Amino acid sequence: MQKILPADPRASYLAAQAGIDAAIKRVMLSGHYILGPELDAFEQEFSAWLGTAGTVGVANGTEAIELALLAAGIGPGDKVVTVANTVTATVSAIVATGAKPVFVDIEADTMLMDLAALDTMLTKLRDPKIKAVVPVHLYGQAVDMPRLMELAGRHNLFVMEDCAQAHGSLVGGKKAGAWGQLASFSFYPTKNIGAFGDAGAVTGRDLALLEKVRLLRQYGWRKRYVSDHHGRNSRLDELQAAILRVRLARLDAENQRRHEIAGLYLAALPEAPLRLPVIAADRTHTWHQFVVRTPKRDELQAHLAKKDIVCGVLYPVPIHRQPAYHDASLSLPQTEQACAEVLSLPLHPGLTNDDVARVAREVKAFFG
Ligand SMILES: *Cc1c(COP(=O)(O)O)cnc(C)c1O
Repeated sequence: MQKILPADPRASYLAAQAGIDAAIKRVMLSGHYILGPELDAFEQEFSAWLGTAGTVGVANGTEAIELALLAAGIGPGDKVVTVANTVTATVSAIVATGAKPVFVDIEADTMLMDLAALDTMLTKLRDPKIKAVVPVHLYGQAVDMPRLMELAGRHNLFVMEDCAQAHGSLVGGKKAGAWGQLASFSFYPTKNIGAFGDAGAVTGRDLALLEKVRLLRQYGWRKRYVSDHHGRNSRLDELQAAILRVRLARLDAENQRRHEIAGLYLAALPEAPLRLPVIAADRTHTWHQFVVRTPKRDELQAHLAKKDIVCGVLYPVPIHRQPAYHDASLSLPQTEQACAEVLSLPLHPGLTNDDVARVAREVKAFFG
């Protein structure tokens, strides 16, 4: 039987092969490989698709977070609030600015940042060093952004949305990434829209800050060879930009296929003893991950692996329990429990309905 993978970027290439091959050839023959017309076009198309004022392509999703925070003036001495059930990248980007991450717990059902807990924490701490909040729109579902924006306004916080898993997720009819002052995206190959290499972007509604990111991504140059700011090289190259344009044109259709697959899973899987994904009112899910929960996570994962069904665990160890960022004094009960129970069933547009039925059958067989 064929192996079912948790993600399959090669299948995404094959599904769009003619367009991607033509884009690659166009760039190769153009003689222009860095900061050229493909990136300009992608930045415009991405902003138009999202509903933001502008986009700046950068090297990857981690630097997108870091550069967005740096552009907002976040640095040493500052604190930035985020969650601990995220990829290390979110936190390593905060630390890279010189700021200190502060963790808030998550909601038990959506596994997204607990905004009531955040409000309580901010009110109690009254810490003027807390300058920003980085909501992580995990698995394909966005944080309650209208409520977060209200809260951030009251506590005077800069909002930088980590949208690496939420390409197209809606809150109240508006896309994730169009709410905060700035937002970051990753186009890592396995994301809902991926490059075939590394790529990322900063986007948002604040044009002045986006212009600052634009300088920071290339040595702080406003004019060639003259740095206005201390910057770096974090460019998104023409080849990846041209490929991303092909993939952007297909993204809504691919998200729709993910939605269909999630619907098949939801109809086929038992509500108990599994916990199925919960979608909050007024939000859509783009199913970057289809995450179920069970205390028997490791056993279920091993059972499925034996049947050639490969599942991911996002994320097995919360950031505050990882050696590099360990904080023994911090307890985040909902986060810790989620990390012990979550399992991502395979979900990507290359799966057939039969594949999905096979996964559901094996999950049910495990629970007997
Ligand atoms: C993938 C991801 C990132 C990092 O993106 P890279 O392009 O790998 O640097 C950041 N945050 C989240 C939530 C992600 O899923």
